[in-house]
Amino acid sequence: MVTDAARLTEHMAWRFGAGSDVGRVRTQNEDSFGVDEPRGLFIVADGMGGHAAGEVASRLAVRCACEGVAMLPSHSSVEEARERLRTAIDDANQVILIEGQAHPERSGMGTTTTALLVSPEGWWLVGHVGDSRAYLVRDGDATRITEDHTYVQELVNQGRISDEEARMHPRSSLLTRALGTSAQVAIDIYEGDLRPGDRFVLASDGLMSMLPEDMIRELLAEPGRSPDALVDCLIEAANEAGGHDNVTAVVVDAYVESEPEDADS
Ligand code: CA
Repeated sequence: MVTDAARLTEHMAWRFGAGSDVGRVRTQNEDSFGVDEPRGLFIVADGMGGHAAGEVASRLAVRCACEGVAMLPSHSSVEEARERLRTAIDDANQVILIEGQAHPERSGMGTTTTALLVSPEGWWLVGHVGDSRAYLVRDGDATRITEDHTYVQELVNQGRISDEEARMHPRSSLLTRALGTSAQVAIDIYEGDLRPGDRFVLASDGLMSMLPEDMIRELLAEPGRSPDALVDCLIEAANEAGGHDNVTAVVVDAYVESEPEDADS
């Protein structure tokens, strides 16, 4: 054991920042975010529905995702984690649907959900429904991971309008998929390798609706900002552009952590 004393193991670790703001126009914040740092789970949910129901829906989505992912054993494979994340989001859909049916004043409530799961084993997963977004910043470039489930995104995919025209479109917020609106919901799952220096950004559409995509990607990729500082910067930028909607951002930075292999020997 003498020669082993200095041996180190390396694994992926992360630091994060998160924040949400009501914006400059609305009186209620229907966005929610959730963080389970030890498990590497980060969620943004953007609720909709009258009488504060949107807030209920987005909170339920965050809670169900956290509870579902908490059932995942540590050192799970990416395959196990993928199915657990999908099941957790599917369960959230059922819970919100039942809650809406049980309380007539909440009927029609729904929410987006974009959930990031990062692993010390070096992989990431994103589970996604709706028009919140996940971005990955790697090697100085910000790329969008998720595709919006909106009417205008379908027009973009058909080549009929540009991204910027979609953003300015009068029906830009019309969702084609959300949790809590039907018994079956298709959940998009994205995955990849987690590398040191990777930065993930989750945001509600209160950011994307206020700022052009190019400007957002530029802000995300600017070096030298801590996760907390980037969250503040994004919320401020959305509000300075008008703050028409609630805005929520979660930023997660991955790095390599070294630990003694046998800490208590
Ligand atoms: Ca919104």
